[in-house]
Amino acid sequence: MISRRDFLGMALAAGAASLLPLNAHAATGKVVVIGGGVGGATFAKYMKMKAPQIEVTIIEQNPIYIRPYGSSEVLNGHIDMSDLEVSYDALRNKYGVNVIIDKAVGLDADKRIVTTASGAKFPYDRLVVSPGIELLYDRLEGYSREVAETKAPSGWIPGSQTALLRDQIKNMRQGGTFLIVAPPNPYRCPPGPYERGALVAEWMQKYNPTGKVIITDPKNEFVTGPDMRLGWNRMYGYNVPEDLKSGMPTLKQHNEAGMIDWIREVDGGRPLSIDATKMQVETEQGFIKADVINVVPPMKAGKVATLFGLTDKSGWCPVDPYTFESKLVANVHVLGDSASASPLPKSGFAANNEAKVAAYAIINLFAGRPVEEPSWENTCYALAGKDYGFMVIGVYGMRDGKIANLPRPGFQTLDVSDAKHRLAAVYQQAWMKSFTEDSFA
Ligand SMILES: Cc1cc2nc3c(=O)[nH]c(=O)nc-3n(C[C@H](O)[C@H](O)[C@H](O)COP(=O)(O)OP(=O)(O)OC[C@H]3O[C@@H](n4cnc5c(N)ncnc54)[C@H](O)[C@@H]3O)c2cc1C
Repeated sequence: MISRRDFLGMALAAGAASLLPLNAHAATGKVVVIGGGVGGATFAKYMKMKAPQIEVTIIEQNPIYIRPYGSSEVLNGHIDMSDLEVSYDALRNKYGVNVIIDKAVGLDADKRIVTTASGAKFPYDRLVVSPGIELLYDRLEGYSREVAETKAPSGWIPGSQTALLRDQIKNMRQGGTFLIVAPPNPYRCPPGPYERGALVAEWMQKYNPTGKVIITDPKNEFVTGPDMRLGWNRMYGYNVPEDLKSGMPTLKQHNEAGMIDWIREVDGGRPLSIDATKMQVETEQGFIKADVINVVPPMKAGKVATLFGLTDKSGWCPVDPYTFESKLVANVHVLGDSASASPLPKSGFAANNEAKVAAYAIINLFAGRPVEEPSWENTCYALAGKDYGFMVIGVYGMRDGKIANLPRPGFQTLDVSDAKHRLAAVYQQAWMKSFTEDSFA
């Protein structure tokens, strides 16, 4: 487990790119940002902090940001929907960012002009695009946006589907089944579906003790896998499969089926279709009936990235890691979940780091200076329960022109004391708050 000192050191390292000395006043220019989520907001804030003379305009389709990170905590009543809301007031009033509530719909890359749904035109020197994800509802036979909005919500982009899912879980019959259909790689928030399963199981222990959580999966592993399985084992009666026990501390052996069942690809967990009328999902191992179904569909870069020609065959946006400039359209930078920046994960933490790197790089480009070599950090804080947390840390730098994993500061997450798991849950909550402040306030 990470010490407090390491923790603070790494929190500082997360902003390392933006703390380097910089004669920002030599740089002038006009930047338009599409998307006021983690990537876009952090970029705009840090750009204005470092180089206030640069004109920064955010085009965001919603007047209030609903944060996806932490949104599973609505499902078990830790927080309300309103706790997910983040205001753009500080960006406007404290940093002088021009925040326009409108939808970006057109790009003239030669003339460098963005058009919005209202018909307004925004000329730029550099365009930054951070539109999050598009959920590919139709990749699962029988699933659609309509089914997601009425019967089997996704909620992976939070909003009314999150609220619907919360109500369905709350109103589920005693002894009912909550089924999560996990997505294929790559996807937003790698530990997310499994954390969601744990949080709903914890809620059930109190309000629906004979209920069950099933996660059916087209994959055999996920980020934070060993830590999460250990939490499931200790708290929800989950028996870790033999082939995943290696390196694990002593596990509880449960004689009865626990509250969580994870059906991997090797066990036939790949989902094939959904019948939302019969409330069942067909998988390679057969049909699973459930009372509440939460589908996390396959995903790709936010729609506007595809519309603007920023995506390649993978559905994501290839970028130059030094600047996050698109490899397909000049003077356009892509941040956050939409960018292909592996091994950086599609997380808010990474989007925030990428935004700082890009802001610093664009200031240098405007000033005619070479860009610096970037570095990044990501910490996946995850909960297996309200008081049971853990974290997995990654540090990244450039190796042979590519983003690479670097050796991490020494710490261990498996087999630590209960107190440390409680502490990690406190860190997770503290991070949620300080991270939102760092990006938006
Ligand atoms: C359940 C869950 C739990 C998570 N937990 C964590 C966590 O613990 N830690 C972590 O680091 N990450 C977590 N994440 C992931 C994190 O929320 C995302 O990785 C992060 O929000 C990505 O930032 P982004 O800027 O790419 O996209 P977003 O934050 O989604 O922002 C995109 C913005 O672009 C806007 N937009 C899109 N298209 C247009 C357009 N055409 N015109 C105008 N505006 C547009 C959208 O309205 C949106 O506001 C979690 C996600 C989920 C779903």
